Amino acid sequence: MSDFTPLTIGTATFLPGESGVVDLPIGSLTGYLPVTMSVHVRRGRKPGPTLLLTAGIHGDELIGVEILRRILQTRNLQSLSGTLIVVPVVCMPSFLNRGRYLPDRRDLNRLFPGSLTGSLGSRLASTFAQEVVAKCTHSIDFHGGAVGRPNLPQIRISPGDTVAAEMATAFKPPVVIETGLREGSLRFHLRSLGIPALLFEGGEALRISSDAVRYGLRGVYSVMRHLGMLPKQRKVTEPVTKTVFSNHTTWVRAHQGGLVIPLIDLGKAIVPGTKLGLIADPFGRHETIIHSEFEGIVIGITREGHADEGDALFHIATTPNPQRAEAHIQRSDEILEEHTDPLG
Ligand SMILES: [Zn+2]
Repeated sequence: MSDFTPLTIGTATFLPGESGVVDLPIGSLTGYLPVTMSVHVRRGRKPGPTLLLTAGIHGDELIGVEILRRILQTRNLQSLSGTLIVVPVVCMPSFLNRGRYLPDRRDLNRLFPGSLTGSLGSRLASTFAQEVVAKCTHSIDFHGGAVGRPNLPQIRISPGDTVAAEMATAFKPPVVIETGLREGSLRFHLRSLGIPALLFEGGEALRISSDAVRYGLRGVYSVMRHLGMLPKQRKVTEPVTKTVFSNHTTWVRAHQGGLVIPLIDLGKAIVPGTKLGLIADPFGRHETIIHSEFEGIVIGITREGHADEGDALFHIATTPNPQRAEAHIQRSDEILEEHTDPLG
């Protein structure tokens, strides 16, 4: 866990106290354009964990890219113990396309551990898995919602990953959700290697929401303190309320097509009977209120003004104490307002 031998990624080797960038060759695109993966390494002088921070597995999810860009700008890491490996854009081909998928329409997050003789995405997954993922002891991977479907900042962990559950608590997101693993995902691969992993979800694709960026930044530094990579904070400004854990989420769907008028927002507590929104025909004849059937917190929402029957409208994390979660979210917002500099 606190290996302090030379770290080799691609053709570069990093000793304690050294930092730098490696551009891993992945392949070439139509037009003879080379594809590389830019891997940034910061090694402290003192031993400690090797934390891997990744974003842009889906090329249209930009919030994690912005969070990692800010971390790379931080000059305040002289006291770092252990190693940070930061990959702000894992999937450059889809980032260049401004889309979620690879040019052949595959999802990189279903291709792990990949193969060096497979498709471009499979080669990318394989190089990333062997050169980068295999070198880390802990991982945080950043994602966001689809276009027009923002997510409340949240952490997802795998059931039974107790080290990740402690990291998630240290991250202090509004909600921690235990979700199963999809075969071929990075999280599935990390689990097979026994590497504790957090998956951050926040905001929506193609947008950079400052709230989600602040939650993410604060969370990363908080996890680094928890892992002993950064000194503990002198001033303790811990919220009284605690992060809520949920092991079940469900989508409330449109029971018929029509215009959608939401009556609730992200982060709100709901109970059976809470009014979530209206569905109406465009001609003023029908209007139906959508009531919640569950107790929980709204963690995802559609911003689209119309829906076909069956479209997903509200994503709910079911939890027996939603008011506590809502209080934690409000408290977190206040803390974020007061302390925008996570190292401050
Ligand atoms: Zn994603």
